[in-house]
Amino acid sequence: MAIILDGKALAKKLRAQVAREAAQLPRKPGLAVILVGDDPASRLYVSNKEKDCAQCGFLSFEHKLPAETSQEDLLALIGRLNEDPAVDGILVQLPVPRHISEKALLSAIRPDKDADAFHPENVGKMLTGQPSVWPCTPYGVMELLSEYGIDPAGKRCVVAGRSNIVGKPMAMLLLRADGTVTMCHSKTPDLKAETAKADILVSAVGRRGLITADMVKEGAVVIDVAMNTRPEGGFCGDVDFDAVSQKAAYITPVPGGVGPMTRAVLMQNVLSLAKEHQKSVR
Ligand code: NAP
Repeated sequence: MAIILDGKALAKKLRAQVAREAAQLPRKPGLAVILVGDDPASRLYVSNKEKDCAQCGFLSFEHKLPAETSQEDLLALIGRLNEDPAVDGILVQLPVPRHISEKALLSAIRPDKDADAFHPENVGKMLTGQPSVWPCTPYGVMELLSEYGIDPAGKRCVVAGRSNIVGKPMAMLLLRADGTVTMCHSKTPDLKAETAKADILVSAVGRRGLITADMVKEGAVVIDVAMNTRPEGGFCGDVDFDAVSQKAAYITPVPGGVGPMTRAVLMQNVLSLAKEHQKSVR
C-alpha cells in the first residue's frame, strides 16, 4: 500500500513557517488579487487566498470586478498596483472572460510582483535556471517530493498535460532537478506506454479515471494534480486512487494532495517577493 503524500499537513507547516518569517519583516507582505466575473469556483479560490493571507499575517487587497470590465480598465488597475508600495504580489484569478486577453494581463504585471510566476520574464528565468518565483502548482509538487525525500535526479519522470500553468513548468522543474522527463498530451499515441515507464508520474489532464493501475509501474511515485468534479459531488483526480495505491510507493490524494500545496507556496512566493522589496529598508 502506497505512502500518502500529505499535502494538507505540509501546507499547514509551510504556512506557519511563512507567518514566522513575515513577522520579522519591517512591513507586512501584501497580495492583491483581481477577480473578474462571478464564477463560483474562482470566488472560492479567491476567498481561500484571503484566508491564507490572514493566517500568514499578510495584507490582502481584493479587487472583485464585474464580468463586463474592459481590458483597458484592468490594465490600468494592474498599472496602479504595480506602483503601490504596499503591494508585493499581484495575481489575476484565471480564467478571465473571453473579451480579455489573459496574455496581456499576465504580461502587464511587473515581474517583481508576479505572485503566480506566469510573466514571460519569470518563465524565461525558470527555463534558464535563474533565480525567480515558480508557478505555484508545480512548485508545490516539488516541495511535496522534497518533504518525503523523493529526489527526481536520475529518475524517469512522465508528465501528462502540457498547459502553461501546470504541465510545462512541471516538466521544467523536474528537468532542473535532473529528472529525465517525458511530456505527454492529447496527441500522444500511446499514453500507457509512456506512463508505465515512469518512476515519477505526474498527471495534470483533468479526466477522471485516465490513469489506471495497469498504466503505473510497481513502486512508482504518483502525483495527481487534477481536480475533477464527481457527478455525485466532491472532487477526484485523474488517477484511479484505490487501485493505483496498491501498486505505487507514494501517491497524492485528491483532495488533500497538490491543491493545498498550490495555496501554500503562493504564500511563499509572496513572501519572497516582499523580502526582495524590503531588502533596502532592513
Ligand atoms: P488544461 O489547460 O486543460 O490542460 C490539460 C492538458 O491535458 C492539455 O495539455 C491536454 O493536451 C492534455 N490532455 C488531454 N487529454 C489527454 C490525454 N488523453 N492524454 C494525455 N494528455 C491529455 O488543464 P490545466 O489547467 O493544466 O489543469 C489540469 C488539471 O489540473 C485540471 O483538472 C485542473 O483542474 C487541475 N489543476 C489543479 C490545480 C491544483 O492546485 N491542484 C491547479 C491547476 C490545475 P493538449 O495540450 O494536446 O490539448
